Amino acid sequence: MNIDKTANIVSECACALGEPCSSYAAGHSMHFLQQRLASATPSKWRDGIVERIEADGWTAVRLLETDERVWLWNHADLTSALQPAEPVTLHVGYDVLAHGDARFNVAVLQDRASAGPTR
Ligand SMILES: [Zn+2]
Repeated sequence: MNIDKTANIVSECACALGEPCSSYAAGHSMHFLQQRLASATPSKWRDGIVERIEADGWTAVRLLETDERVWLWNHADLTSALQPAEPVTLHVGYDVLAHGDARFNVAVLQDRASAGPTR
């Protein structure tokens, strides 16, 4: 991943301008097929713990099996849906983040530092 690709992920939708989301790209609206495929492949879910959650849509998750930290991006502010230290599951085949009954389409970055400035 490079800076340009991340910039495209974040800005390719009208939701970046405050308008309703019209995109099924990574990190935007969940397509029913994406959710169905994730449900149909249960072996691809990985347990994790929320490490950081930011209002700009970025969430850091520590995957328990590999102790790997991944950065996830969603076009919405998820700070009301997720809290640090909460358990989540990430579908590594179809990039779906699950928490309770909620499902989010996420863009997955192994290393956010390579994708743009960190704070
Ligand atoms: Zn969007």
